[in-house]
Order: sequence, then structure tokens, then C-alpha cells
Amino acid sequence: MKEAYHADPAAVAALFQKLQREAAAAGYHLNPDQEFTMALVEGLLVNSERYGAPVCPCRLASDIAEEDRDIVCPCDYRDPDLNDFGSCFCALYVSEKIARGEAKPHSIRDRRPRLEERRASAKAAALAKEPPQSLRYPVWRCNVCGYLCARENPPEICPICKARHDRFERFL
Ligand code: SF4
Repeated sequence: MKEAYHADPAAVAALFQKLQREAAAAGYHLNPDQEFTMALVEGLLVNSERYGAPVCPCRLASDIAEEDRDIVCPCDYRDPDLNDFGSCFCALYVSEKIARGEAKPHSIRDRRPRLEERRASAKAAALAKEPPQSLRYPVWRCNVCGYLCARENPPEICPICKARHDRFERFL
């Protein structure tokens, strides 16, 4: 059995500040319910210790990095959920309207595909090795925010949402 982890309150406060800064810089909003948000931030820290990455605090991780990558926060599903429902699955990130207190987040269905579907799409992406002849460079897509760039390799950090290079997928 794994030992229980506890996050240091100072580390929770520091991560909260960092997420708030990054969210503001990129046009995102954290949930204005500070107690709720701090609990989620603590969950991210606990998961960082447990899995080596800030895996989504509201989802069950497999503890296999490759299979949990899409739910490392911010997950691949944050932006479509924000667009469709005004909040991410955990409601850590919310729309401007909710951030201003003009609406409340509500529970939403998890849009994450089943494991078999995720494996099939990863396999299809791996098969698309060569860029079309007409393209000088392959095109990479950030799975978190959809940023596209054409270059030999994906950027180390997404310039828009700050996701790491391993969150990029070959698009063309
Ligand atoms: S963006 Fe929201 S739903 Fe996605 S991992 Fe982070 S807290 Fe969970």
C-alpha cells in the first residue's frame, strides 16, 4: 500500500500563486472559491509526489506516465470543457463569467476517451511519421491549448499555455 502524502501549506500557497499568475498571463481564470481551489491545488501537489507529475486531482491515475499524460494538469480536456461548460472537469479553471461571480460551475461529464480509444489514437499518431512532401517541417499541435507550430521538434514549453514538450502531438 502507498503511504499517504501531505502537502506543505507553504508549497500549496506558492503553487496557487504560480497558477494564478500563469492563468492571468494566458487569459485563463482560476475558480474564485479560494477554499475549493486551494484544495485542488493541494491535490495537484500530492499527485506530483505520488505520480511524479501534477495529475488531475479529480480523476483516477494509472500510475503509468504514458497513460496519464493527457490528465496532467492542465489536462488535454480543459479548453474544450471551458468552451462548452464554462469550467474544466474539476472546476479549477473557470470562464470569466464564473470568475466574476456571475455564474456558478456545475458538474460535467468527463470527456476523456476510454483507455482503448486513447491507445488507438496514440498508435495512429505514431504511424504518421513523415510530413507530407509539400511541407518543409512537421506541424506540431499542443494537446492542451491547440497551439500549432511547424518545426523539426515541438518547443520545450508551449508559448501559450506553458505545457511541456511531451504534450505536443504530430499534427501533419
Ligand atoms: S485542468 Fe481541471 S480537469 Fe484538467 S487536470 Fe487540471 S484541474 Fe483537472
